[in-house]
Amino acid sequence: MKKPLRFWILSLITFTMLGILGSTLLSSYLVTKDRLIENSLENNKVYAQKLAQLSSEAFSSMQTNLDARKTDVMNNFQYTSSLTTILDQILISGKYFNSVSVIDSTGLVLATSPNVGIAGNIIESYGVREALSKKESLITSPYYAATGRLLILVSTPLFNDENEYMGMLNGTIYLHEENFIHNVLSKHYAEDGSYVFVVDKKGILIYHPDSSRIGEIVTENPVVQKLLNKEDGSLEVVNTKGKHMLAGYNYIESSGWGIVSQTPFESSLTSLNAIMLKMFLNALPLGAFFFILAFVLSGKLASPLKKLAMDTLHSTDDKERMEELIIPPLYFEAKQLTETIENYRKKQQARVDIFKELSLTDPLTGLRNRRYSELLFEDLLNQHESFSIILIDIDHFKSVNDEFGHSAGDNVLIFLTEKMLEVMRDKDVCIRLGGEEFAIILPKTDLEAAYKLAEILRGNVESSIPPTNKLITISTGVGEHNSEQESLTDFIQRVDLALYKAKSSGRNKSIISIHQ
Ligand code: GH3
Ligand code: MG
Ligand code: MG
Repeated sequence: MKKPLRFWILSLITFTMLGILGSTLLSSYLVTKDRLIENSLENNKVYAQKLAQLSSEAFSSMQTNLDARKTDVMNNFQYTSSLTTILDQILISGKYFNSVSVIDSTGLVLATSPNVGIAGNIIESYGVREALSKKESLITSPYYAATGRLLILVSTPLFNDENEYMGMLNGTIYLHEENFIHNVLSKHYAEDGSYVFVVDKKGILIYHPDSSRIGEIVTENPVVQKLLNKEDGSLEVVNTKGKHMLAGYNYIESSGWGIVSQTPFESSLTSLNAIMLKMFLNALPLGAFFFILAFVLSGKLASPLKKLAMDTLHSTDDKERMEELIIPPLYFEAKQLTETIENYRKKQQARVDIFKELSLTDPLTGLRNRRYSELLFEDLLNQHESFSIILIDIDHFKSVNDEFGHSAGDNVLIFLTEKMLEVMRDKDVCIRLGGEEFAIILPKTDLEAAYKLAEILRGNVESSIPPTNKLITISTGVGEHNSEQESLTDFIQRVDLALYKAKSSGRNKSIISIHQ
């Protein structure tokens, strides 16, 4: 079966609602996602900035620490044990360095704290060579020392009173061991996978939570490239390990290092699904409310057409009359449709009535015809009423036609009709059975009354002048149907026989038929 209109209206509304909900959720999803990414980038940027500031302060503090003891170191340049004491003090006071040393201008280690076993040795390592050649305060790139450690050197030059370069006072940071950078940064390793790493000015990892990576060159990382260009900012990036990251980065002027704080892309979006679910759940009650509203309204909207369809479905052909449509005219189209159908129905009904009338009427005389008489008999029998009938036949009618023509004959038939109408009573029905044969059906009338009426009619016809000016007569057969046992056919046959008797016994007579 085809789906009803309401189904389609509801489907339309449902799809529209789902469409709106879907597109709203999608656009919220995209906006929220962008917002979360922006937030993560901004957080990491601010964070890297903060850490850079912290580191910067730490470096200047380191330099200050070393500079503050330069004079002491120069005053005790020859005395290893005094130098060692001073270095011990520096080591304890600053807590920045893993070791401290004094190296003269040839690279000879004069003293160290703690004792790392290199005092009295000449150091040829990269960091020491760089510091000795530059003769200025500096922080070296990471390098492997003779001890096999990866370290960076924070160094300040030593000059005597004559301003001769004597060597340097160094603080060393062991990158693979517990150190101050580690202390500052490792606590920022977050559970969502965010972490911080530090590169030096050559793009070498100085600090990374995965300590095995320290010393690795990561210059191909786009963030590191930005730092090598001394830029600050944030960037969505795929790192050297192929991981999608949201990074904030900051360049540290004093050391030339760069700090990167970054969060895995997926971690930044973990709250997204929860937010979307919440939005969906928030939309549900209102959505359900509107759906119920739509359900009710769709019922109303579809009701006129539904009523129309149901009325049409249940209207049967054998109904006498088409019933009037009562459809709620809720909106213009329904009203118009109802009116159109109702007008059409009325016109059709009028036509049907006319055709029905015509089908039961004789066109020449305007009397009821044989078909009508059959229906009438049926009615009378159904009502179990007794009734009488007068069967009428014009005598020698053929000769009227022959003498005056067919059309004059017709006028004689109309003349007889008038005579019949004159004598009939209100409840009687005059019939033209066909040709020049007529009948009067007389409900609730006994044989005697019927015979009287037949005789009056016969007398009237006989004594009236027809349109042809030539008198005519009629013969009649009269009978009463008062027995339930007698069939209609038998009844008509026996009255017809009476008519035949009237004809055969000389015409211009009324003969009664009696039921035996
Ligand atoms: P009777 O009944 O007395 O025996 O003689 P009749 O001449 O009337 O005989 P019958 O009933 O056989 O003839 C009927 C005639 O009626 C035959 C036909 O030409 C004529 N007729 C039948 N219908 C019409 C009609 O509609 N108009 C005219 N003008 N004549 C009709
Ligand atoms: Mg006849
Ligand atoms: Mg006749």
